[in-house]
Amino acid sequence: MNILLTGAAGQLGSELLPLLSAFGRVVATDRGTPDNAGKDWIGLDLSNAGKLEILLNRLRPELIVNTAAYTAVDQAETDPEISFEINATLPARLAGWAKRNNARLIHYSTDYVFNGKSDVAYLEADTPDPQNVYGDSKLAGETAIGASGCRHAILRTSWVYSSHGKNFVLSMLRLARKGLALKIVNDQRGCPTWARNLALASSAVIQKWQTADFEDGNIQNYGGVFHYCDDRVLSWYDFAHKIFSLAVDAGVLQKAPELTPVPSSQFPQPAERPKWSVLNAQRIGDAFDIHPASFEQSLQTVINKIAGRNSI
Ligand code: NDP
Repeated sequence: MNILLTGAAGQLGSELLPLLSAFGRVVATDRGTPDNAGKDWIGLDLSNAGKLEILLNRLRPELIVNTAAYTAVDQAETDPEISFEINATLPARLAGWAKRNNARLIHYSTDYVFNGKSDVAYLEADTPDPQNVYGDSKLAGETAIGASGCRHAILRTSWVYSSHGKNFVLSMLRLARKGLALKIVNDQRGCPTWARNLALASSAVIQKWQTADFEDGNIQNYGGVFHYCDDRVLSWYDFAHKIFSLAVDAGVLQKAPELTPVPSSQFPQPAERPKWSVLNAQRIGDAFDIHPASFEQSLQTVINKIAGRNSI
């Protein structure tokens, strides 16, 4: 199988790259080309529709895995065009090509499509109501994929972190190394999700697609929108607390910083965030036997990786 992976240098893309090679030849793309890139790596600005079309027509992927995204949630408020270009127009183009060429598409979306006013975990069937530009743009991407009629799965996830890239774990550790006292929001709750667990979930979806009849009759079971997140509901404050406790034990930090829980009203940010960002992952469990991984073990593994490389 020919596979195109976009966003291959990102948190999720870099976890997916080694897993996808079990299914066929993977061509990886991202905006730049890292020093250690293999021969099947293509540096490409995916907002360039012409070059994207040329790449697709040359590679003719049977599977497109689109992790590329504009993930700067606050910046999206002032850069809505770029956010929509990458989070909505790009998936629309990929889905259109997939439909015309009978390819499959795996795409990723976010808990931020919901307004966070619930207090029970969101189901895929719940009505989205994004509260910020990023959420709007991701929802537009979902809608375009659904409307294209291509065979697809959209995995919505939340609070993604990894041992590299832009994420809360590394931001907290960097701030702590500066010896700063930190005020952390404690009235937004969600499920932190290790990028590798989401990559493993994606891999299980592909595996099932290879065995299950994913044609029209079965598309309702094995296609559409699915929620995946790891198994713990935490506030950002709880999450930070856990990061620092593990980091001190692993020797990443000498001591934990002073932490103060604050309401989001005391921590104004350009983009409004949902207070409740919890996704119900029952559907992906029923269809693919994929179940939320342990937050404790995942964060421990990530902290150990950071400790092992001696830099944050
Ligand atoms: P990252 O930001 O780590 O990776 C996205 C990658 O896409 C980056 O390498 C980025 O490159 C690349 N990219 C963006 N724009 C372009 C472009 N114009 N041309 C080429 N490449 C581009 O994202 P994650 O891995 O964290 O996210 C994966 C998916 O999960 C996304 O769909 C995201 O919306 C979703 N998600 C993420 C959450 C999170 O907390 N991170 C939470 C919920 C959902 P560059 O850095 O150079 O822009």
